[in-house]
Amino acid sequence: MSSTKTIGIIGGGQLGQMMAISAIYMGHKVIVLDPAANCPASRVAEMIVAPYNDVEALRQLAERCDVLTYEFENVDADALDAVIRENQLPQGTDLLRIAQNRIFEKNFLSKEAGVPVAPYRVVTSSLDLENLDLSRSYVLKTATGGYDGHGQKVIRGQADLEEASRLANSTECVLEEFVTFDREISVIISGNGTDMAVFPVQENIHRSNILSKTIVPARISDELAQKAQSLAVQIAKKLGLSGTLCVEMFAADDSIIVNEIAPRPHNSGHYSIEACDFSQFDTHILGILGQPLPEIKLHAPAVMLNVLGQHMDKAQAYIAANPSAHLHLYGKLEAKPNRKMGHVTVFSDMPDEVEEMGKGTDF
Ligand code: AMP
Repeated sequence: MSSTKTIGIIGGGQLGQMMAISAIYMGHKVIVLDPAANCPASRVAEMIVAPYNDVEALRQLAERCDVLTYEFENVDADALDAVIRENQLPQGTDLLRIAQNRIFEKNFLSKEAGVPVAPYRVVTSSLDLENLDLSRSYVLKTATGGYDGHGQKVIRGQADLEEASRLANSTECVLEEFVTFDREISVIISGNGTDMAVFPVQENIHRSNILSKTIVPARISDELAQKAQSLAVQIAKKLGLSGTLCVEMFAADDSIIVNEIAPRPHNSGHYSIEACDFSQFDTHILGILGQPLPEIKLHAPAVMLNVLGQHMDKAQAYIAANPSAHLHLYGKLEAKPNRKMGHVTVFSDMPDEVEEMGKGTDF
C-alpha cells in the first residue's frame, strides 16, 4: 500500500489550509471542497468548488480521495454517509452528529463519557421557561447553529425572559445553569483509533465571544491541568477518536466542567505549530491515517494572539517591533471586522508579560 495518500478536506478556511500544509509536507496530496474558489486552502491544494452539501461534489471528492476529513462540524452528515466508502472518514459521522447538536453533545458528555457538565435541560418552547427559579442564572443556547456566542441568551432575571422566550419559541434549545469559573481552558487531543496524543492545557481569553488570546500552559495548578487532560482522554476513549478534537472547559479552584467539543483542530491549538514538536494539524493528519502518534512536547510557554480584520495594521506594527513573533496570515482577501485573518504566536514565560501582551496593540 502506498504511504502517499490523497486526502479530501471539506472546508477550505484557515483550518483546512493548515491541515493541508501538514499533509503536504508529509508527502500527501490534498483536494479541498469549498464554495469559494479563492478560499485560504486554495493557495496550497487542488479545489472542487461547490457548496458543502452538494452531494455530487461530495461524491466526486470521495471518489478521488483515499481518506476524507472536515475542517468544521456543520457538514451534512447524511450526505456524507451516502457517498463515503467504508472507513473512508475515520472520524465517522456519529461524532459530527454529536458536535452539531448541543442536546446530543450534552447527553453524550454527561451520560456516555461520564464527564462533568453544567446542569442542563432541554427546552422545546417558552412554556419550559415558566416557573424558572430566577434566584439563579442560566444560559439558553440553541441546540443547533450557534457559534461564537450567537444563538445564546443569558438569563439573570425577569428582564431577560422576554428575549429568552422568543429564542425558545424559535427553535429547540438547551438551558444550562450559569457556571462561575476562574478561567476558560481547552485541551487538544488527537487519536488514531487506538492511541492518543494529548497537548498541554490551553487558557483562552475571549473578547466579544471571539477567541482573542491563548496562553500555554494555562495558569492553573498541575493537579487541575492533569484533571483537564484526563477528562479529554476519557472523552476521546469513548469516541474511539481518530483525528484531532478540542475539548473546551471551565476551570474553577479545584473543579472542571466540560462545556463543548469541536471534532477538529481548533483556534486555541494554533500555538502548537511553533511551540510544540508536532502541531494539532500534524497529529490530525497522522491520526486520520491511522499512523502512530508522538508524545507531545511543549518547547516553551507560548501565547497566541488572534488577528481579526480590524487588527491587520496593528499586527503588522507588532511584528515589526517584535521580529521573533511568528505571524500567520491566512490569505483572506477582505479584512472584514471580526473576521479571523491570521494569528501571532510569541514565546513567553513571564505571567506579567503574558497579561499585557497584545493590550497596547488592541489585538
Ligand atoms: P459556547 O458557545 O458554549 O462556547 O459559549 C460561549 C461562551 O459563553 C463561553 O466561552 C463562555 O464564556 C460563556 N458560557 C457558555 N456557557 C456558559 C455557562 N453554562 N455558564 C457560564 N458561562 C457560559
